Amino acid sequence: MEILRTVAELRQWSREERKDGGNTIGIVPTMGALHAGHASLIRAARAYVGFVAVSIFVNPTQFGPNEDYARYPRTFDADCALAKAEGASVVFAPSVEELYPAGAATFVDVEGLSNRLDGLSRPGHFRGVATVVAKLLIASEADHAFFGQKDAAQVAVLRRMVADLRLATEIVVCPIVREPDGLALSSRNIYLSPAERQHALTLSRAVRQVQSLAASGERRSSFLIDAARDFFAAVPEIRIDYVELVDWITLTSVETAVPGTLFAVAAYVGPTRLIDNIILE
Ligand code: AMP
Repeated sequence: MEILRTVAELRQWSREERKDGGNTIGIVPTMGALHAGHASLIRAARAYVGFVAVSIFVNPTQFGPNEDYARYPRTFDADCALAKAEGASVVFAPSVEELYPAGAATFVDVEGLSNRLDGLSRPGHFRGVATVVAKLLIASEADHAFFGQKDAAQVAVLRRMVADLRLATEIVVCPIVREPDGLALSSRNIYLSPAERQHALTLSRAVRQVQSLAASGERRSSFLIDAARDFFAAVPEIRIDYVELVDWITLTSVETAVPGTLFAVAAYVGPTRLIDNIILE
């Protein structure tokens, strides 16, 4: 498995692989510190396309000034071993200067959507995400790009971006991978102390509660959100960022849940911000 460092190398790789017999190309964008959630995306990609690039890039433009860019976990050698074991064809690991050349002044702003959910509490976050993913899709010329439902608002922003920019890449969304006790896997889980790790279960518990209430016929948004908030009220160590029931395309609040409605939560467990969600059936 090759490690590519430049956009030119990634583009050349993609074109060469495609040339031989109409192969399809997939890309799995990540920030590294790979875990079983990322592995599931790489496996899904392998089942879908002929050749898979895994990008590993801690994207500075999606972090706020007081966020964890500098201390975000970087585990490059282990990441490459995981990517290889899951069948990635190449890892694309550019430098910051490679993706943001000196004087870079072009950004992708998905208006409206970028200020909802995580975008509300993390100003500029989705601008950074959309910009780097646009660069990755354009550079890789991928037929399919694989993202986790874990970042459900990100999926909505990127779908809008791909549609608006008329990009040729199709977005594929993969299910959330969880620990046996329900906690959604995240590269940030390593920040949690043992006590915080227990408190963090509140997110998946709230999500499961809303899922089961909705499954038993409860459709009122206010009722479902209050039920979730009750879980958090019992755990003072957690600070809610948002608890929302929204349309998964527009990310605007709904009054009544329907199949496909997104229930999403974000909360600070100590200094660590975690997210979780469910798409209601
Ligand atoms: P990140 O490295 O955090 O930027 O995540 C890279 C990709 O992996 C994103 O599409 C995430 O949604 C996805 N991902 C992260 N955690 C999980 C998880 N627990 N289950 C499934 N996908 C995930």
